[in-house]
Amino acid sequence: MPAAQKINPGRLYIGGQWVDAVAGHSFPTINPATEEAITTIAEGRAEDIDRAVRAARVAFDGPWAKVSASDRGRLLWKIGDLIESHLAEISEVETLDSGKTITEASRVDVPMAADCFRYFAGWATKIEGETVAVRAPTFNYTLREPLGVVGQIIPWNFPILLAAWKVAPALAAGNTVVLKPAEQTSLTALFLARIAEEAGLPPGVLNVVTGFGPTAGAALVDHPGVDKIAFTGSTAVGQEIMRRASGTLKRLTLELGGKSPNVVFADADLEAAARGAQNGIFYNKGEVCTAGSRLFVEEAVHDALLDRLAASTSRMQQGDPLDPKTRLGPQVSEAQMTRVLSYVDTGKAEGARLVTGGERAPGKGYFVRPTIFGDVKNDMTIAREEIFGPVLSVLRFRDLEEVVRAANDTPYGLAAAVWTKDIKKAHKTARLLRAGTVWINTYGLYDSAMPFGGCKMSGFGRELGHHGLLEYTQTKSVWVDLS
Ligand code: NAP
Ligand code: MG
Repeated sequence: MPAAQKINPGRLYIGGQWVDAVAGHSFPTINPATEEAITTIAEGRAEDIDRAVRAARVAFDGPWAKVSASDRGRLLWKIGDLIESHLAEISEVETLDSGKTITEASRVDVPMAADCFRYFAGWATKIEGETVAVRAPTFNYTLREPLGVVGQIIPWNFPILLAAWKVAPALAAGNTVVLKPAEQTSLTALFLARIAEEAGLPPGVLNVVTGFGPTAGAALVDHPGVDKIAFTGSTAVGQEIMRRASGTLKRLTLELGGKSPNVVFADADLEAAARGAQNGIFYNKGEVCTAGSRLFVEEAVHDALLDRLAASTSRMQQGDPLDPKTRLGPQVSEAQMTRVLSYVDTGKAEGARLVTGGERAPGKGYFVRPTIFGDVKNDMTIAREEIFGPVLSVLRFRDLEEVVRAANDTPYGLAAAVWTKDIKKAHKTARLLRAGTVWINTYGLYDSAMPFGGCKMSGFGRELGHHGLLEYTQTKSVWVDLS
């Protein structure tokens, strides 16, 4: 695959140089639609992480500290422009590596990544302190400073987009970064490093170390030279990172799993709700942390909605993700496909009713048919655990109080949605649902300006928006004697 070869020299990007992994190991990255290797990625380990952290520290203390806020903003804007000018190439690489459709990659992931860099470019010059009314004869003001070297660990479901969500605010605030992409989808992070180089970002400001979580990722979490870890991924790994980070008292933001409730009241626009429910679970083949995986439908419209949803789901086009007509690509890896299918077995064994799908599609590639279970009870495994695949659980409810209780009866608290034409009911339910994001009469909207993150076992901290920027800063109080 020429594009992948061009952007991936099989090296790590450290201190502005493309370098071999010290131990010289590498691993293949697989196209999940064909099960074939695309190219070989360098496997960074603890010694490579150490080199990257040192390079990031040198850049933080030296060249990057000398770049004015306005020039930081210009560099970030340029990165956004370069992402946009390479849109077709990045989208193709993302599709090949992750199995997401080319339509989603080119219309959503890549343009939103460019937008994220431009959005945070604007913030670079708007990071301000305050003057504080302290006792006379003294004067106190605050400085909002960068944290230093930030370690960022991202998953495989939105590779370029989540890299942008993490890198752009960190650099806008004046930090330097060591980024560890997911082993399944490293290619667009390497592409981003190329773009940063082309934009003229000083050496060491952004370092990309490809490799595995338990080695490269853990080394980043343990490294005493790292000031913060920003992580997106599974709750189990988030917990492990939190335990390990206590050793060096690192700051953390954790964006973890979800089991998001999507609540449809009987007075909703059913056609819109059905479309929203379908997108909510099958977008990016269900590999979305905010997937609306528990669909609660009020009794009076339950059967009508389920029939409509089952019919449109069975018509969804699944296949080659490079085909613009395809709606559903393959799961990201064989392991993920196997995991999803084992949840399907559990759903059947626990007595849920399989309405459609429920099997692997024949032929090459890790394709799972879009799957809907009816008659799901909220205590079944498929309603409690994050499946991270195209599997929807449909549950019925009688009234607002009952549905709020059931919707909140989950360890997670990432996102939720409510569908109703009653404005009071919509806002009341939005307040009662425990989640970092609630959508009303829509599903899955994001914007670089909107704070995003979770509560409960979905993690803490916010990404994007002004809140996301502040997570990469700390406050210093300065006292001045005026006597
Ligand atoms: P994961 O293990 O949490 O991986 C996320 C990132 O963390 C990857 O870069 C991974 O490295 C790294 N990592 C793994 N173990 C680590 C450790 N001990 N220390 C530091 N970093 C570590 O997620 P996964 O295994 O890819 O997916 C498993 C499940 O996680 C999914 O089925 C889904 O339920 C959930 N998930 C959630 C999200 C989300 O957005 N909330 C995203 C992806 C997955 P590798 O390169 O070795 O993977
Ligand atoms: Mg891959």
